[in-house]
Amino acid sequence: MFDWLVVGAGFAGATLAERLATVRGERVLVIDRRDHIAGNAYDEQDAAGILMHRYGPHIFHTNSDAVFEHLSRFTKWRAYEHRVLAKLADGKLVPMPINRTTVNRMNDLSLTTEEEVEAFFNERAEKVDEIRSSEDVVVSRVGRHLYETFFRGYTRKQWGLDPSELDKSVTSRVPTRANTDDRYFTDTHQFMPLDGYTAMFKRMLDHPNITVITGTDYSAIKGKVPYRRTIWTGPVDEFFGFEHGKLPYRSLTFKHETLDQEWYQPCGTVNYPGEEVPFTRISEYKHLTGQVADKTTITTEFPAAEGDPYYPVPRPENAALYKRYEAMADATPDVWFVGRLATYRYYNMDQVVAQALATFRRIEASVPVGAAE
Ligand code: FAD
Ligand code: UDP
Repeated sequence: MFDWLVVGAGFAGATLAERLATVRGERVLVIDRRDHIAGNAYDEQDAAGILMHRYGPHIFHTNSDAVFEHLSRFTKWRAYEHRVLAKLADGKLVPMPINRTTVNRMNDLSLTTEEEVEAFFNERAEKVDEIRSSEDVVVSRVGRHLYETFFRGYTRKQWGLDPSELDKSVTSRVPTRANTDDRYFTDTHQFMPLDGYTAMFKRMLDHPNITVITGTDYSAIKGKVPYRRTIWTGPVDEFFGFEHGKLPYRSLTFKHETLDQEWYQPCGTVNYPGEEVPFTRISEYKHLTGQVADKTTITTEFPAAEGDPYYPVPRPENAALYKRYEAMADATPDVWFVGRLATYRYYNMDQVVAQALATFRRIEASVPVGAAE
């Protein structure tokens, strides 16, 4: 008899499994339908020995000391600040997020102060009474030309929707700067796990109370293995048999290539905002990991409607549908819903860890160790 069945061995599932086994001494069965642990953060060495990410580039960044300290139990870190360039239709490479260098390089200007750059944005910004959509966020800050150059095409490719149809939270993830800071993130902690994500997950799950079975779907375990309670980290609509209809999740197809050259591009990721190409970005792992090798491995991301669920799609009608599933989840005893797919939230890795740790605190406060409720 297991105390817990944890469905999904990604950040949500692994964080909870470790806490339940270590702090409460409970017996935990972790399953994943993929043939590996670590969820979307899974990394592995390819045939050329380059450490790469099967589900696209994952860069760890957080402002939470608690999350950083928690994960530091399972890994050492390599300091890494991610930088992104956008490749424009004319071939120019400019910093993304838009900053002073971007404005100067695009327009052959030489603005030198933040005030000058803010004035440049303000002259072009459109007045929007209430900022609701992902289009509103950008046009109200920098105007239509920069919006169309950097955001409209990229977003239409990534989501299959126009930015006017997406919640403001999506493009709000990317700031606009008047200074020359060209880092993608400004969080206080920005690191890559020194030996990779999969190695970190192995250490999290390496506990005598934890049994891990990969390549196994929930449907193969349900009702066949005895367990008292469940942590569910898969899609919430799947758990309820799509009773209210399917929640939209956006997918990606990844093209991984190992090239017989030392470097492919000047930084970790180059974004392709234009609709003249069908992909959104190309990432080169050696920039992230610091690995030294004669060859290099890159991943190109092609957005897709069908495939593994990677992104919840933030827009009002989807939030309303999720609320119906959330109400069902709240009314389901002994099952805890955690993570990006199970709570339909566009969360980064650190936010999922924070959510899992908060769930653990709620379990501690309400569920006696080992006993059935
Ligand atoms: P997942 O990692 O998706 O894990 C859920 C697991 O559950 C999966 O392994 C799945 O196989 C399993 N599962 C689902 N249903 C079942 C079932 N029925 N039976 C058995 N197993 C099941 N975040 C960052 O912080 N920084 C980044 O740079 C970053 N880059 C990203 C790039 C891409 C392309 C994507 C898609 C995401 C990125 N993220 C990034 C987000 C990050 O991947 C997620 O926040 C995190 O992986 C979510 O963890 P999770 O445990 O909630 O879900
Ligand atoms: N975005 C864009 N152009 C860019 C980068 C981002 O339009 O060059 C928009 C796009 O809608 C994207 C969102 O901003 O989905 C969030 O970008 P982020 O890089 O955070 O996406 P993720 O890494 O989660 O895929």
